[in-house]
Amino acid sequence: MLRLPAFTYLAPSSLTAAVRMIADQQPEDAMLVAGGTDLYPNMKRQQFEPKRLVGLRRLRELRFLSGDARHGLTIGAGMTLTEVSQHQEIAARYPALATAASLVSTPQLRNMGTIGGNLCVDTRCNYYNQTYWWRQAIGFCMKKDGEICWVAPGSSRCWAVSSSDTAPVLIALNAQVNLLGPQGERVIPLCDLYRDDGMVYLGKGNDEILTHIIVPPATGWRMGYFKLRRRDSFDFPILGVAAALRLDDDGTCLEARIVLGAVTSFPVLATAAAAALVGQRLTPESITAAAAAAFKPAKPLDNTDLMLSYRKKMVRVHVARVLRQLAGLPIRPSHDVHE
Ligand SMILES: Cc1cc2nc3c(=O)[nH]c(=O)nc-3n(C[C@H](O)[C@H](O)[C@H](O)COP(=O)(O)OP(=O)(O)OC[C@H]3O[C@@H](n4cnc5c(N)ncnc54)[C@H](O)[C@@H]3O)c2cc1C
Ligand code: SF4
Repeated sequence: MLRLPAFTYLAPSSLTAAVRMIADQQPEDAMLVAGGTDLYPNMKRQQFEPKRLVGLRRLRELRFLSGDARHGLTIGAGMTLTEVSQHQEIAARYPALATAASLVSTPQLRNMGTIGGNLCVDTRCNYYNQTYWWRQAIGFCMKKDGEICWVAPGSSRCWAVSSSDTAPVLIALNAQVNLLGPQGERVIPLCDLYRDDGMVYLGKGNDEILTHIIVPPATGWRMGYFKLRRRDSFDFPILGVAAALRLDDDGTCLEARIVLGAVTSFPVLATAAAAALVGQRLTPESITAAAAAAFKPAKPLDNTDLMLSYRKKMVRVHVARVLRQLAGLPIRPSHDVHE
């Protein structure tokens, strides 16, 4: 059994106190923790070795959900994934978000895990998500304790994979996030929170707390999320496809956003695929063209589950499936993967 190393848990009673506490620490010594469902397993494997954790769990200021589909939603970062997936307005009017939240890991982890933690979840790699002793046996890698990248040994960067389920959906919905730190507050598009870097994958300071997510109105939008993984009951995504489309009364696509998760170190906006749909009706032909355009920017590497060639092929299949669902067309069976 892996044991959690010793650390000091700081329990602020307000958001202001939490900002002060994290800002008072040396960045390399302290981390924020919400549900702990990603952080604690990582600490057991010594991927993170903070001396102090600033707990966000008790903060009522992070536990709220307001608004509606007509005006948009504001979701506190401390809402659990269960609460998000089962919220009536989200389930009815933001079904892609409800689906993505409901597909994260297991019920127990969704009861503890928060939406804020899900957006900040660590990047993953087969050579990194291992025990300390496993990683030591191969001489570690540059994401923690080592110097080389075992996936691309000639590379000067880490290619660990962005593995959040809700991030692709919220980017497809054009969501923004509010960050609060010692220098004050700022609102940024969620897509700008992520960096193309498996190690420093978030474009925010260690002392900035993600307080809430601002989701635009859903009126007039259709949306969906498809996830690929080996075990449907448990696993992280090895591909996530989110799509949001706005159609006119004739069914012509006015706006489209398609986002690919788990294909590289950040959620990728498949802009060419979206552009291929705008001005078109959702027909099998336009869907096939968009799926082909989404296939090109997806460049998964051999560092997550299942074969690389299969995961790449599944980008086209899952994009077609999610678009067919939004078009009300039958979704083709899995043997179409081999087309
Ligand atoms: C077996 C298993 C399966 C899993 N499967 C999936 C899966 O399928 N899909 C998926 O997306 N995730 C999965 N996870 C990861 C995790 O459970 C979820 O991502 C969860 O939503 C993380 O939320 P949390 O509140 O527990 O985050 P924590 O573990 O508390 O924190 C995660 C990271 O976010 C930071 N953080 C947390 N809250 C904030 C905040 N408000 N502001 C700034 N930084 C913050 C922490 O510092 C830490 O770096 C899995 C985990 C396990 C153990
Ligand atoms: S991509 Fe390379 S550097 Fe990054 S975690 Fe994997 S092996 Fe390590």
